[in-house]
Amino acid sequence: MSRLDAEVEAAESTPSPGAGELTSARPAQLGDLAVRRLLPLRHRRSIGGWCFVDHYGPASVDAGPGMQVPPHPHIGLQTLTWLFEGEVIHRDSLGSEKVIRPGQLNLMTAGKGVAHSEQSVRHHGPRLHGLQLWVALPDHSRRVDPSFQHLPELPRTEVGGFQATVLAGSLAGVASPARSWSELVGAELEAVGDTMGEIPLLPTHEHGVVLAQGHAVVAGTFLQPGRLLYLGPGREVLPISARTTTRLLLFGGQPLGEPLLMWWNFVARTGEEIAQAVADWNAGRFGPVAGYPGPPLAAPALDPVRLVARF
Ligand code: MN
Repeated sequence: MSRLDAEVEAAESTPSPGAGELTSARPAQLGDLAVRRLLPLRHRRSIGGWCFVDHYGPASVDAGPGMQVPPHPHIGLQTLTWLFEGEVIHRDSLGSEKVIRPGQLNLMTAGKGVAHSEQSVRHHGPRLHGLQLWVALPDHSRRVDPSFQHLPELPRTEVGGFQATVLAGSLAGVASPARSWSELVGAELEAVGDTMGEIPLLPTHEHGVVLAQGHAVVAGTFLQPGRLLYLGPGREVLPISARTTTRLLLFGGQPLGEPLLMWWNFVARTGEEIAQAVADWNAGRFGPVAGYPGPPLAAPALDPVRLVARF
């Protein structure tokens, strides 16, 4: 048995995981598409600025329409779309229209408000696999003007034996051109061979790890898709052992230190702000998303009394 095999077996059969907190995804639906919702958690709204992590696929979309998310609004956050397989077209109320493919990043800063749609392209490939991520904007910048960035190429580096692609913030001194408003890191790590390595971390950051494909032992915990490992601040390295072709997302940042109120597609601080965003959406004040062949999403019924911001 190799050292990697032995470590995987030991971690897999150990009931108490390593230093982190391990949670399971909740199943959710994005139209016809089944997603694993890994964040937010009931007891943890954010990891660094990251406040939403959906993992979908790999799914066969050969026979169906694939991803079909009609126009809907956002405030107070950034959305990041990251694909492993497939192609998705983004349209928004700023007039952007951009197809995204694996290895590219679509970054939309909602700030004070934007609407967008995402759907598989008309003649799409047979498979779809990706991540939908949100970063909460800190209080001082959450009302910035909306903007959209399509990044066709992102910086790549080898770190700890893994091929790293830096989506947002920086990892091991390599910075993404994606605009951000808080200290953070978001990187895909791919094991290009059977790998046991260490990833340098900033000890001021908290981190999350999500597996997209394969399995790995991360800080002593066996991880597979559908699980989130949370690691608090104070770590300088992250030991990871993984088989070849394993892919994972490492994300985190300086703890936000702000309670968030997340409701539908909005990130705010008070129920009044949410109620205003719903009223704005219902009145068409986010502006139209041109080119989407169908009606926009309706906001669910709102009970602002029950809305409380939480850490
Ligand atoms: Mn969205």
